[in-house]
Amino acid sequence: GEAQCGKIKEAIGLLAFEGEPISWNRYGSGHINDTFRLICKTGEGEKHYIIQRINHEVFKDPVSLMRNIAGVTSFLRERIQAQGGDPARETLNIVKAKNGKDYCQDSDGNYWRGYLFIDGATTYDKVRQPEDFYRSGKAFGRFKRLLAEYPADELAETIPNFHNTPVRMETFKAAVKADSCGRAHLVEAEIKFALDREKEAAIAMDMLKEGRLPLCVTHNDTKLNNIMIDDVTGEALCVIDLDTIMPGLSIFDFGDSIRFGANTAEEDEPDVSKVSLSLPLFETYTRGYLEGCKGSLTTEEKMMLPMGAKLMTFECGVRFLTDFLQGDTYFHTSRENHNLDRARTQFALVADMEKKWEEMAEIVRESKK
Ligand code: ADP
Ligand code: MG
Ligand code: MG
Repeated sequence: GEAQCGKIKEAIGLLAFEGEPISWNRYGSGHINDTFRLICKTGEGEKHYIIQRINHEVFKDPVSLMRNIAGVTSFLRERIQAQGGDPARETLNIVKAKNGKDYCQDSDGNYWRGYLFIDGATTYDKVRQPEDFYRSGKAFGRFKRLLAEYPADELAETIPNFHNTPVRMETFKAAVKADSCGRAHLVEAEIKFALDREKEAAIAMDMLKEGRLPLCVTHNDTKLNNIMIDDVTGEALCVIDLDTIMPGLSIFDFGDSIRFGANTAEEDEPDVSKVSLSLPLFETYTRGYLEGCKGSLTTEEKMMLPMGAKLMTFECGVRFLTDFLQGDTYFHTSRENHNLDRARTQFALVADMEKKWEEMAEIVRESKK
């Protein structure tokens, strides 16, 4: 809230920005953190920065979170440098605190961080044309490739069990059993849909345990407005918003992008007949992603991409249904049955993927990279 942001002046004083801070304004359209653009005056002119208050309600351990970001961005910086890129624009760069830490804390206990501002690039909230979806696939594929050799197991889980589908299923079954709001009888068909797929829901985590899928650095918030598009070249320049980087499976990042980007309907569309998987959009994103990955996926990872899409959609539906059963306490709802509508769209999308399974597999097989 505004009171907390009153401490921004204190935070600015604690971070090692170059020059004299002259003004700051709320910036961007992120929903999680409080983001500001800061302008500092230096001998040569103006320098721009991002300063953010980390949302410590969502992220309970900001120190580990910043350790993750510091590790990954310094690794990215080296890789980008080695490949002749511009590390000041192609990755986030932390501006450290004057005491040498990667963040600072104001007297209310809020955590703040600074980043170099990436000039000459823009984030877009909505896909304007299919090309945008392709670009975002390419950016997240490239991110995956650049971090292929990063020791993912050293990353902290900023949100524990985030995509642990079997754990999500256990929580769901407990919610059905408890039926604390007496709603289970309203959703018998949806409960059956979920239980019928319980075994399959564990397949990716099982493959990880068996060493058939590698543990990777995953982004876990692969929205379009988390990539910056270069204003001049129109190319995806940089992946930002690294709060949710965690050890995980590449097919989950891929799958979540498909889940929200290739659905022909809104996530909470009450008329499920409008829900379907757009195969052209699936093809577009897959092409971008595989180009960005440039061969850094194993054969099994590549083959499992459609399963990643299905699992992320299924898991999301299970989470909405769980929240409906528990009385809508986690996801923000703005109408009756909102979570139920959301669960139904996700399950309808799963069902449509099952119908289009062969085509999805074919698209992945046919792509050259
Ligand atoms: P949230 O987690 O709240 O989405 P983000 O880290 O995505 O926060 O930041 C919100 C917005 O601020 C981004 O969508 C982007 O427009 C802008 N932004 C963030 N970091 C930078 C940066 N280093 N340079 C320029 N703009 C940035
Ligand atoms: Mg964001
Ligand atoms: Mg975020």
